[in-house]
Amino acid sequence: MTSTRGRRRLYGVLLAALVWALPLPAVGQESASPPAVEELESPEGISSRAYRSELERAWVEGGSEPAARAAAARKRGLELGFLSIETPARALLLENGSGPELSNGRLAVMLAPRLPLAHVALARTLWEEGEYTGAAFALWDALVAIPRNLEASLWLGGSLLAMFAAVVSGASLVFMVLTGLSVGRVAAHDLGDLVSRDMPEFARVALLGCLLLLPLWLGEGLLGFGLGLFAAGVAFGTASHRKALALAAVLLVLGLYPLARFAGSALLALETDAVALAALSVATDTESPAELSWLERFEDSDPLAQHALAVRARRKGDLEDATARYTRLAEVRPDDAVVLNNMANLRFLSGDVNGAIDLYERAQVQAVSPVLLFNLSQAYGRAIRVEDLRATLERAQAASPALLGELSRPGDANLVADLPIPPRRLRQRFLSADTGEVFAHALRAPVAPGWLGRGWPYAAGAFAGVFVLMVAVSGRWRHSGTCMRCGTRLCARCHGTVWSGHMCDGCHRLFQRAETTNAKMRMTRLKELRVRERRRNQIGDLLSFAVPGTAGLLARRPDLAYVAIVLCGWVLVSAVWRHGVVPDPLTLGVAGSLAFLLTSAVAAVGYTIVLAVSLAARRNL
Ligand SMILES: [Zn+2]
Ligand SMILES: [Zn+2]
Repeated sequence: MTSTRGRRRLYGVLLAALVWALPLPAVGQESASPPAVEELESPEGISSRAYRSELERAWVEGGSEPAARAAAARKRGLELGFLSIETPARALLLENGSGPELSNGRLAVMLAPRLPLAHVALARTLWEEGEYTGAAFALWDALVAIPRNLEASLWLGGSLLAMFAAVVSGASLVFMVLTGLSVGRVAAHDLGDLVSRDMPEFARVALLGCLLLLPLWLGEGLLGFGLGLFAAGVAFGTASHRKALALAAVLLVLGLYPLARFAGSALLALETDAVALAALSVATDTESPAELSWLERFEDSDPLAQHALAVRARRKGDLEDATARYTRLAEVRPDDAVVLNNMANLRFLSGDVNGAIDLYERAQVQAVSPVLLFNLSQAYGRAIRVEDLRATLERAQAASPALLGELSRPGDANLVADLPIPPRRLRQRFLSADTGEVFAHALRAPVAPGWLGRGWPYAAGAFAGVFVLMVAVSGRWRHSGTCMRCGTRLCARCHGTVWSGHMCDGCHRLFQRAETTNAKMRMTRLKELRVRERRRNQIGDLLSFAVPGTAGLLARRPDLAYVAIVLCGWVLVSAVWRHGVVPDPLTLGVAGSLAFLLTSAVAAVGYTIVLAVSLAARRNL
């Protein structure tokens, strides 16, 4: 399911990390032969001093020790607007020889707090060192980092939605089948009466079976088969059966249509919008030449492309180009706080302090950001506006003391920090890029290959129509029943009048009017019935444990049956898709499987509780 475009980006991310992890020649020393990967990066033969960004320069020239390089990259990263610096973090995780692994893991987490993979790597090394509590906390941090990482959250959200869509639609179909089967004998008898009252039992069952298989033969697949059993369940079930069946039908249609589409649009998000993907690559400093050419193609028509190119120019140290691009962008988005802040930073660096203050002040009307306030305070400081400086620093301190501390630590009067392309904006672009219909169709095709699978109005209309029709006609004939004591068929049409739909004449006499029966024969009959009852209970217990949902139906609680099937389905699906529905974008490591395992464990506990409640309800019948 992963496309070439997404995979190419993954290769780019890995290649960048690999380049950064390679031992580079010491600064100032001319290398006789440039490293091989540099050649790979630039076939035209740019010298080994040509960095892809200022961030890479900070990393490479930061020193020989990983800690020094990480600190230099972190400072430069803050300045260039990186929320999480993934490439050096990945490089540290690839580098095993140059330092103790534990310290590399900690540095990776410091550099890329939003990269779940870094937390997972730290957890693994902590575990190997015997620090089990620390490892557990690091794994927890990995889970917490998922929603803050765009690629990881799209992948996990898409996978969970796809699993949910598959579970609710599958569980609804299974529930319809079980409910249909539970009323099958009564339905078969009443249907047979329509043809002939002398019809033998097996012929009645065969007739009903043929009718139920008709939709399959017509090419409507499992959904059509489910619709037939749904009709039987509504016609012959009780009011609580009907409620649970209506809920199942609604969730079935929701699962097959909108939920599957949402899942598809999240899972395929990174495949459709080439400009947004290229902007994401710029945001993680891993853009490829192909992605760059996409951005250049759309720089005039797509503000996101212009924004990404401005960010890239700034990171390459081309302040003139960055200024020109931000100025053009500000014409389209005059109220964009990110654009205003980054433009102000460029003015500040060029020495135009008052121009910078003007832009910072315009930006802070639009958004509250500790980074923006810090920058403004730096500009006030340079303009020697002491009172404004103090007030602004106080506001920045209140907004985020930790971030302010990190920004102030270098004590650099020239340090101003860019704001990144808002991840929210990228997420919206990605989610609106693909309708998800391709994925939804793939999920639906095996279940609904026919007319019912054409669109949600077809499926919803069919289920609603059948429901209304069955409710309307089911009161028009006397339903046959079964004796609760001996299992005899009770039918007013076949046996003249029956006085109860639940107990035959013989059993009524045996239990309610014992004086009219022969004592010896009564004892024999009661013994037979007790044996039958015990056998029925044993089979019921066996089915309750073997087939999810049976316990609820036997307890006459269809609602519990449906919930049990959904929970059991979740346990199954999360085990099958424990590595996600599509391959993980190399941002999560085991954190993804851990997230699925946690939901699976919760579902398993829920299933056990529902099963226990159903068994208890059956005992109390
Ligand atoms: Zn009976
Ligand atoms: Zn009959």
